[in-house]
Amino acid sequence: MNQVLVLNSGSSSIKYRLIDMDDRARLADGTVERIGESAGSVADHAAGMDVVLGALKGRLDRSRLAAVGHRVVHGGDRFRGPTLIDDEVCDAIRELIPLAPLHNPANLTLIEAARSAFPDTPQVAVFDTAFHQTLPDYAYTYAIPKEWRTDLGVRRYGFHGTSHQYVSRRAAAMLGREPEEVNMIVLHLGNGASVCAVREGKSVDTSMGMTPLEGLVMGTRSGDLDPAVSAYIARQSGQSAEQIDQTLNKASGLLALAGSNDMRDVDTAAAKGEEAARLALDVYCYRIRKYIGAYLAALGRVDAVAFTAGVGENSATVRAGALLGLEHLGISVSPKRNAQESKQERYISPYWAQTAVLVVPTDEEIEIADQALQVLGAQP
Ligand code: AMP
Repeated sequence: MNQVLVLNSGSSSIKYRLIDMDDRARLADGTVERIGESAGSVADHAAGMDVVLGALKGRLDRSRLAAVGHRVVHGGDRFRGPTLIDDEVCDAIRELIPLAPLHNPANLTLIEAARSAFPDTPQVAVFDTAFHQTLPDYAYTYAIPKEWRTDLGVRRYGFHGTSHQYVSRRAAAMLGREPEEVNMIVLHLGNGASVCAVREGKSVDTSMGMTPLEGLVMGTRSGDLDPAVSAYIARQSGQSAEQIDQTLNKASGLLALAGSNDMRDVDTAAAKGEEAARLALDVYCYRIRKYIGAYLAALGRVDAVAFTAGVGENSATVRAGALLGLEHLGISVSPKRNAQESKQERYISPYWAQTAVLVVPTDEEIEIADQALQVLGAQP
């Protein structure tokens, strides 16, 4: 019993990985994409599960499967850690659908399909919000009417928790210390992006809020915005709340500013002198810098700044741009180390720096598998 199957489903995709936990080797992995998007594509996440099972044929040995680990986007304030799935947990994930209307239904359909495909294997839910359940009340509370907060659950939950947790643990190991001894700022910069302030191994603030829209500029999301903009656009253009939500989530960010949601395109265009791309890059990096400033103030002492995910792991331009002008705070990159391309965990700060600046490739699948086994180990 040394294998774990990890299922990481987005609203229209399923990433899967079968891991041998003895040596953490990938026995199989892949992605099912464009689920439910067009005629002829995979109809829903249950049909997606059949595609995954087909791909695993011959590689998955049911007698050795210890657990199936599921990423679930929204755990509300109910789930503070990985949780063994039963009917009650499924009901709770269903009750949280209003907070994550695209993701939780997809996660749930996949969980149900996996439970019927592997009825004898324990299934564990690992929530994207769980790591941030340690936020103090003053960091997660929005200054809005009580009924919105208590009856409607409007508060900061935060996301990318699995990635922030994994990266903060790896970063502490790179410093040769226990997570409980380290304060750091983790920058998860992928297509979605968020910052996390980690004090002594625990998340104490994060830039995504009730939904993943708040905070940094992302591939297609605006990030922080005056909340009055939505009402203004509704009045001026007659668009519905749904349409405006869609625009802020899917047609804003880098895509709106530079015409592509891919940082590689933006970086290339900016290097060629295209003004829109230059502005997009500046807005993107400036937003990150502001959050670093805020989280330095929140944490007091910061031992490390860690970059992760597609942009954070690969874009030297963004890493340098985000930390520009922070030298007097003890934070800087060595141009030579920063320019070095690598898939490895590495330091990019100069050797004399007060604060370590690190690149830590994230691995949500390994983190989910580890947490799944942790839960089973804790069973009586
Ligand atoms: P993720 O969500 O972590 O998979 O990150 C995906 C994003 O990473 C893509 O949309 C790109 O913008 C970005 N990315 C991937 N490779 C590079 C690269 N070599 N340079 C800059 N950005 C990259």
